[in-house]
Amino acid sequence: MRHLAYDFILAGAGVAGLSLATRLARDPALRGSRILLIDPAGPWVAAGNHKRHRCTLAFWTRDSPPYAQLSRGSWSHLTIATESIYRALDLRDHRYAAIDREDLKRHWWRCLAHSLDGRCAGVDGISGRVHRVEHDGDGVMVEVSGRWYRGRWLFDSRLPEGNSPPELPPAGRLMQRFYGWHVVTRRNCFCPDTATLMDFRISQAHGPHFFYVLPFGRRRALVMSVRITGGVVPRNGRCTEFPAATADEALADYLDRIWQPGGIEIAATEGGALPMNARHGSRRRGPRHIALGVAGGLIKPSTGYGFMRIERDSRAICTALAAGLDPLARVRESRFYRFLDGVFVDAVGRGGDRAAEYFGQLFAHGSVGRQADDVLCFLDERASCAALWAVIRSLPVTPFARAACCPSRVGACQYPHNLRGTWE
Ligand SMILES: Cc1cc2nc3c(=O)[nH]c(=O)nc-3n(C[C@H](O)[C@H](O)[C@H](O)COP(=O)(O)OP(=O)(O)OC[C@H]3O[C@@H](n4cnc5c(N)ncnc54)[C@H](O)[C@@H]3O)c2cc1C
Repeated sequence: MRHLAYDFILAGAGVAGLSLATRLARDPALRGSRILLIDPAGPWVAAGNHKRHRCTLAFWTRDSPPYAQLSRGSWSHLTIATESIYRALDLRDHRYAAIDREDLKRHWWRCLAHSLDGRCAGVDGISGRVHRVEHDGDGVMVEVSGRWYRGRWLFDSRLPEGNSPPELPPAGRLMQRFYGWHVVTRRNCFCPDTATLMDFRISQAHGPHFFYVLPFGRRRALVMSVRITGGVVPRNGRCTEFPAATADEALADYLDRIWQPGGIEIAATEGGALPMNARHGSRRRGPRHIALGVAGGLIKPSTGYGFMRIERDSRAICTALAAGLDPLARVRESRFYRFLDGVFVDAVGRGGDRAAEYFGQLFAHGSVGRQADDVLCFLDERASCAALWAVIRSLPVTPFARAACCPSRVGACQYPHNLRGTWE
């Protein structure tokens, strides 16, 4: 088979693909490596695709936020609200921040463009869809529109068919659906240093539903509706069947009731969907084929956050490759936290309209200071024993003990019918 040869092939030039490619291209120990990025959107074009696929990535960090020059906002106060709980959380050790995914991709492409002038590795990008992957001795063959490329390693961001563990029946699959407005309000109604992490003050009759609000000024914010529903995320990661009218109504109602903006202009919208089930089995799809990002199970099922995990993952992969090791040699995964995640998601899935309270209680065990940081450390999977115990103790015993002792499925979760098709 005639083919072009590379050291590293990245199927998908999204967040995970570009984060890793940039690190590989810049690592002095990997100087001279050849890298190929493949994306149907056309990797060189995708980065400028601002309007089509806008997506704001929020994250928290203990150190100063990465990519500070791209920051859309950063906050040291968070709020969380349910019908019965309202908590203002002051962050001492952490900072909550947001960047635009397309800005980030553009930034990465600029870094990669430097590598093209020969200072680092050689990077090629092609527009196309990976159709077939075949293992070939100490490499991997990848087919794109009838042409073959060979890599020593393939890093793959494509969601597998059905994007959930195959053993999980469709009724047991859970996803988060996002839909949000970038609004400009007539009145000053947002507090620029306080982000709303989760606000459940909306009907929970059809399963967990919350809003988050990222204020970029007193009159500008991203207001995002997040619903946890059953179903399967389309392979392109976008929810084409999103019933905009329902989501628009919910956003308008929430803004009016809670923020009283005195009129709004919608500057832009964004949305998408994410699978929430914990990954099962290995992210190694073949001896030299490793899944990345969402496809690699790097989104934390209980929160839907993945950006910082993806960043840590690409750092670990690059460090291992630079040391001549297997890419996953430096990747650490905690089975314990994976178990806790499964329990949390299972309890949420079974909890119906009580699920909102679980999130509320998670943050409610301490209203100020260190406890908020403790919860973020817990969600980052690096809590101290004392913090871990405090967080676990804050959750209601019965539903969580039931989820821990009698999971709906062995190692997976089954969700009640009320989480199915909740957009209808
Ligand atoms: C709406 C939304 C909001 C999110 N918000 C946050 C947030 O606030 N904070 C956070 O931490 N995380 C968030 N996430 C989760 C996560 O950080 C993002 O989904 C992130 O983009 C995942 O990176 P990825 O590379 O795995 O996927 P993507 O960035 O989607 O990249 C996958 C790439 O693979 C390409 N591809 C698909 N099929 C093929 C094929 N056959 N061949 C080649 N390429 C292919 C796609 O074109 C795409 O470019 C959010 C996710 C969504 C959907």
